[in-house]
Amino acid sequence: MYDAPPPRASGSATANAAGLVTPRSYQVWEGSNVFFLKGRFIFGPDARSLFLTMFLIIAPAAIFCVFVARKLMDKFSHHTGICIMVITVAFTLYDLCLLLLTSGRDPGIIPRNLKPPEPEDFDGSIDVGSIQTPQLRLPRMKDVIINGIIVKIKYCDTCMLYRPPRCSHCSICNNCVERFDHHCPWVGQCIGLRNYRFFYMFVFSTTLLCFYVFVFCWVYIKKIMDAEEINMWRAMAKTPASIVLIIYTFIAVWFVGGLSVFHLYLISTNQTTYENFRYRYDRRANPYNLGVVENFKEIFFTSIPPSKNNFRARVPQEQGLQPRQSAGGFMSPNMGKGVVDIEVGRKAMAWGEHEAAACFDIEAGLRNEATDDKDGSVDCSNLSRT
Ligand SMILES: [Zn+2]
Ligand SMILES: [Zn+2]
Repeated sequence: MYDAPPPRASGSATANAAGLVTPRSYQVWEGSNVFFLKGRFIFGPDARSLFLTMFLIIAPAAIFCVFVARKLMDKFSHHTGICIMVITVAFTLYDLCLLLLTSGRDPGIIPRNLKPPEPEDFDGSIDVGSIQTPQLRLPRMKDVIINGIIVKIKYCDTCMLYRPPRCSHCSICNNCVERFDHHCPWVGQCIGLRNYRFFYMFVFSTTLLCFYVFVFCWVYIKKIMDAEEINMWRAMAKTPASIVLIIYTFIAVWFVGGLSVFHLYLISTNQTTYENFRYRYDRRANPYNLGVVENFKEIFFTSIPPSKNNFRARVPQEQGLQPRQSAGGFMSPNMGKGVVDIEVGRKAMAWGEHEAAACFDIEAGLRNEATDDKDGSVDCSNLSRT
């Protein structure tokens, strides 16, 4: 068995005993992610939208600094004027850092299994004859008890694992993500266990930044009114940049402010966006709700677990470059990877055992909601664009 050596600082390729170059994990990654700086940063496949998001923050902040904050430096006493400028620059940089912390790190991806789990592990009553038809032995769903409430967990065909509670497969990134919240097209990354805190802080900070710019644009207009003894409209006409910024931040704050409030509600009730969309009509108890204080502690004051992936680790060539096995589990052995990657509900057709699959779903009590088989398709756009 080949052991992956610890990742090295240099990005140079190493050769194994046979003279073959062993790739790094990120080079043979099977999800749809894109990596930067040789696997040090991981983004979703839509990472390009990050540039738009950054532009939508940097551009108004720059306009504010040049056309408003710089003028306010003259209107206020020395220190106050400088403070307005420094706070704008520092807060914008802080906001961008939070954005990169949200989108550039592992959101909580569960590494794929190379082969399906052994049915024996889950079904003690398996008999020898069943080896011929292992596909009928792996249950699609399993029950686990969380805080005294039964929670169903699903088997992921793509990752070949039973998803832990709250984990879902993002159809955009093609990974199972722990405490999956949604895939945010604005940050170009899944929001999950390891970046939800930063995501919320980013959205909240952006809301504050909008308020800040909005307020000081009005302060500047008031200063012009007082200095030149003119009415508001004339003062506004003298600073078109302020008008643009007031309109821009007024519109933006409805989106980011709305999202902040929505996530404040989700945090206080310990729900993810995915759970909120999927179970909104259910009257089942939320097993994760520990009370408002504990829920907030869980999101903001617990240590974030380390990543389960080492994207820079060397992987065995045969493991990394060969297509993954698709046989086993409850899929027919001749299924290709393309079929494997289809999500759970639709895959029932590919099995050729439609009725059996339908029974599974009925037994499992699955809802035919729009989000049901589109794990990961809940995105910011469904709420309000971030
Ligand atoms: Zn998965
Ligand atoms: Zn995703």
